[in-house]
Amino acid sequence: MQIDILTLFPEMFSGVLGQSMLQKATEKSAVNYNVVNFRDFADNKHSTVDDYPYGGGAGMVLKPQPIFDAVAALKEKAESKQPRVILLCPQGERYEQKKAEELAKEEHLIFICGHYEGYDERIREYVVTDEISIGDYVLTGGELGAMVVVDSVVRLLPEVLGNQESHMKDSFSTGLLEHPHYTRPADFRGMKVPEVLLSGNHKFIEEWRNKEALRRTLQRRPDLFDKIKLTAEQEKWLKEVKKDVE
Ligand code: SAM
Repeated sequence: MQIDILTLFPEMFSGVLGQSMLQKATEKSAVNYNVVNFRDFADNKHSTVDDYPYGGGAGMVLKPQPIFDAVAALKEKAESKQPRVILLCPQGERYEQKKAEELAKEEHLIFICGHYEGYDERIREYVVTDEISIGDYVLTGGELGAMVVVDSVVRLLPEVLGNQESHMKDSFSTGLLEHPHYTRPADFRGMKVPEVLLSGNHKFIEEWRNKEALRRTLQRRPDLFDKIKLTAEQEKWLKEVKKDVE
């Protein structure tokens, strides 16, 4: 996967892309990152990328020219001519795991990180394929949002996450929150691991995990049940869990 990031603050990315899984992904040739300062594409003497808003008002607006030309140059260089061009924007579609799974199937992603008051609307209309918000709050710039999206997409690439099963059971991938985890020791200062996990009985362990995922979702994110269809077995377990919770 080719990932291009257009930003005015390229230095912000070196730590994040150079560590942990995101860095390992480049070693495995699963991904190639290219962080570009779109100021380099400004066609005016002072490399200005922003200007006053028409109609007046506070704040500066990102000009269309540097971003139009930067995206065109990246597309020209790319093997795939149909990259997804993602605008980070608090007005975009709220980012969710399903979107990460969708983007992980692409060959080429271009991220545009905004700054200042916003973008000239023509960038949104003519350059962008997707607008993503990472939540209902306003950040100074799109860089942190791009990092969130890149991290959640790259970890899904088959070459990156060794055990593919582990992400299929992640919270949200199944439509539910994930069940709790425990590791050794079985008794930590009097706090014990649930017996069933020590039983070695895989059927019982699986059933416990399924029920705990339902319990956790019921307690913390009951809204998720509106988006999924439970199996008959899950419906039965959910009834049992609801009785416990009441
Ligand atoms: N005036 C804009 C508005 O009210 O929609 C907010 C601009 S914000 C200060 C500057 C930039 O930060 C945005 O253009 C966007 O790139 C980024 N940004 C801010 N909040 C974000 C969010 N929740 N998700 C993704 N990007 C965000």
